[in-house]
Amino acid sequence: MRKYDSEYVPASAMAVFAHPDDAEFIVAGTIARWTKAGCEATLVLLTSGNAGTHDPRFTRDALARLREKEERASARILGVKNVVFLRHDDCALLPTLDIRRELVRLIRKHRPEAVICGDPQAWFFDDRYINHPDHRAAGVAALEAVFPAAEMELLWPELGTPHAVQAVYICSTPSPNAWIDIAGTIDVKIEALKAHASQLNGWDPAGRIRDWARAEAQRAPGGGTRSPAGSSGRARRPKYAESFRVMRLRERERRPETKND
Ligand SMILES: [Zn+2]
Repeated sequence: MRKYDSEYVPASAMAVFAHPDDAEFIVAGTIARWTKAGCEATLVLLTSGNAGTHDPRFTRDALARLREKEERASARILGVKNVVFLRHDDCALLPTLDIRRELVRLIRKHRPEAVICGDPQAWFFDDRYINHPDHRAAGVAALEAVFPAAEMELLWPELGTPHAVQAVYICSTPSPNAWIDIAGTIDVKIEALKAHASQLNGWDPAGRIRDWARAEAQRAPGGGTRSPAGSSGRARRPKYAESFRVMRLRERERRPETKND
């Protein structure tokens, strides 16, 4: 990880996740870092989380409406410009060709330089949590839309001008290769997560989020970020980090001025 370290800010980014609150738990520190630096961010939710409660007072429609409202509030906190709800059913998501088409249409419309999504290979976290099948499905759908579908001229020309995504940031991954310093945005991340009150049941996520981000920073080999261009270039370990497997699909047009790449 050199070109895609903490100094890199894409001009535009699209995050694709299964549920409202997924991005907030996992990658909101990076999204806030990027939007603060001028990145135009789009958040795509494949479901509106319409099964995500054990509270019998909710209908699916009422829950979806509430969770979309929470997501819009969260997106405002994170500086995310566009939020798109594709409204598939929660807990029943599959990476179908129809969903690939929906995502190709959005990629060709918003033309993100970077796409953020979850790792579809992640089945288990520690010995306590089986990854939600919707999370794996969303990861497959996002990656299959990015490559090669969105960039193929002869595939679905009615969905818009083909677009080649430059980099994919894959989160919740067992094989990270990049760590983003989120010390400057962890408070924003926590605030955005708190907007999802229907999922927290009064729980304050601040301690857990700080613990996770501290642990991620500790995992970064030799420190997860590099000094700004022009300084010594020596790596320093961030206090809080989010980790990714970054796939560089092609050389970025605007290369950062880092040395020893
Ligand atoms: Zn989720």
